[in-house]
Amino acid sequence: MTKDQSLTGLLTRRRALLAGAAAVGAAGTAGLFATVTGEKPIRPAPAAGPQTHRALKPSAYRLEPLTGYGPPRAAPRRVLVRRRPFLRVSGRGRTIVLTFDDGPDPRYTPHILDTLREYDVRAMFFVCGEMVADNKELVARMADEGHVVGNHTWSHPLLTRLSRGRIRAEMERTCDVVEETYGERPAWFRAPYGAWNRATFQLGAELGMEPLAWTIDTLDWTTPGTGTIIHRVANGAAPGVVVLSHDAGGDRSQSVRALRAYLPRLLDSGYFVTVPERKYR
Ligand SMILES: [Zn+2]
Repeated sequence: MTKDQSLTGLLTRRRALLAGAAAVGAAGTAGLFATVTGEKPIRPAPAAGPQTHRALKPSAYRLEPLTGYGPPRAAPRRVLVRRRPFLRVSGRGRTIVLTFDDGPDPRYTPHILDTLREYDVRAMFFVCGEMVADNKELVARMADEGHVVGNHTWSHPLLTRLSRGRIRAEMERTCDVVEETYGERPAWFRAPYGAWNRATFQLGAELGMEPLAWTIDTLDWTTPGTGTIIHRVANGAAPGVVVLSHDAGGDRSQSVRALRAYLPRLLDSGYFVTVPERKYR
């Protein structure tokens, strides 16, 4: 993967169009380029693919014009069928990824977005389709502010108990509503409750999505107290870690308050809070 491909992935099409060249500079920070790791593909990784870019020095790529913003793809990207989800990311520097599941929820998601905007960092939101349907403006805001929106099914079922057809419907319907509101189909999928099976990997791949789990579970859904959530993030923080929190599904005010405390601490500790980049396109 080359740096400009990474950059392409960091910015949504909508954001790129809005922000233009200014976004290139804003995103041109070492450590922003994380790739997912944690498992081996079933078949060998493809070579560089049809797009080949020369490697650029860090100082040079900022000057490279944005490329790759063609018309929206009609068909999903082809991805490998995994056996396990990615659990962490790798990249230059102390990268860490914050993920928020089950939303969007108008009671909590706007506050989380406000905090992320205050510190100018990007995060991932694994949304449920039925929540998106009621809160489309929040997903549009995620797109505008450069966040990555992933697929967390339509209604948050335990997929391992569903038929293949039901699993596909849960995933595909969510892809559709994300595309409608976010402007792109999701590139990432996360199974509710972390309950993966072969069908979820196969269907996710068919729909062009990579499976992402997490490294640290804040267990914020148990409302353990804001201080406990902060402590879990601070304690677990390490390069490549993916943090799981929730912005919906119950009272998430502790999650909102915890983010306000641990995000500046992570940044002060030298972490690059970023979003993962797909290895293969
Ligand atoms: Zn969930």
